[in-house]
Amino acid sequence: MKDMSQRLRSVVPSASMAMAQRTQRKDVERRIIDLTWGQPDFDTPDHIKKAASEAIQSGKNRYTASLGIKELRRAICDFYRNYYHVDYNFEFEMLVTPGAKQGIYYIFQAILDQKDEVILFEPCWLSYRDMVYLGGGKPVFIPATEDLRPNVNALRDAINERTKAIVINNPVNPSGYVFSLDELESIVSVAEEFALFLIADEIYDRITFLPFTSLSKFQDQKDRIIIVNGFSKAYAMTGFRVGYAFAEKSIIHSLNLIHQHTATCAPAVSQYAAFAAITGDQNIVEQRTKVYLNRASLVTEGLKKSQFIAIPPQGTFYTMIKVPECPEHYINNAEYFFQEYGIACVDGSYYGDSAREFVRISLTAGDEDINEFVKRLTLEGNE
Ligand code: PLP
Repeated sequence: MKDMSQRLRSVVPSASMAMAQRTQRKDVERRIIDLTWGQPDFDTPDHIKKAASEAIQSGKNRYTASLGIKELRRAICDFYRNYYHVDYNFEFEMLVTPGAKQGIYYIFQAILDQKDEVILFEPCWLSYRDMVYLGGGKPVFIPATEDLRPNVNALRDAINERTKAIVINNPVNPSGYVFSLDELESIVSVAEEFALFLIADEIYDRITFLPFTSLSKFQDQKDRIIIVNGFSKAYAMTGFRVGYAFAEKSIIHSLNLIHQHTATCAPAVSQYAAFAAITGDQNIVEQRTKVYLNRASLVTEGLKKSQFIAIPPQGTFYTMIKVPECPEHYINNAEYFFQEYGIACVDGSYYGDSAREFVRISLTAGDEDINEFVKRLTLEGNE
């Protein structure tokens, strides 16, 4: 057999999926608390499921326009106009994608040439790294500060003549950090100075516990800022696979070329479900955000009685936990948590070297599991 491509050699499997599979093991003594997965434990709201069923029943089962169905594109642009007070033209400044992830993949395929560099702030979602490699580029990581914040001050030093883009994931998966307006302004001005693309992955924008600024605010920078978002997290629609990207017309045209030749369009039925989501009652998003905040507080407050330190998230449904010392016989902190406490989570090292003293837990488990998690770490962790 011939070899797989060079590009694929740097790509690694998803760490959260690998850990989630281990929670299915039957040979462990006690119940494993699974805090690995980045998907809401809530079900998709009923009115969205109903819209999907109706779409199937009424025969909306065919390819759609590659940009996405008109009513959905218009509704998303209307939503942004009301919610963020920004204007994107639904005819040519946006593309509906099969999930936000696919949109990000298109972007790297569209903008990168061999060895072009993309700057990523640690701690950072692991898929960017692999998608940059798949685009033929090279990820460049900026280590986080001691308290695990993105080190915006180090941005300038990371830029060279090969730099093509900066990624801002806001709020941040895995730390739940929300960039301040000052930080965003400073990043935008550096991107402008060096003529770089700015890719803003804002998939957790609706799950925020303090005021959030979307990078779409910088409307005069549409020719460099590409906004990515989607329905998976806010509306608990991970399996529907609907996301979208906003940018200036020629960028959207380029992304759509890749989209047309790979996916053709986002799933038709899911697009009708997404339309119901974005035009329907939004209270459910706020209610669920409150639940995540409550779970985050249970963890941050609860762990104060333990040797572990939780970094209070400002958004998302994740929390990073600092582990003061990993016993030598474990390869990393996630393994330590798994073996000693029966807790499945993702090791911090997967989000960058500067996060190796941490683990990421996902708050997408019921209060009972969250309380049990805190109990195990406080009672057994202090023994
Ligand atoms: N971006 C970030 C930062 C994520 O954490 C995830 C999912 O874990 C995605 C994008 C993927 O979103 P989608 O389900 O819309 O592809």
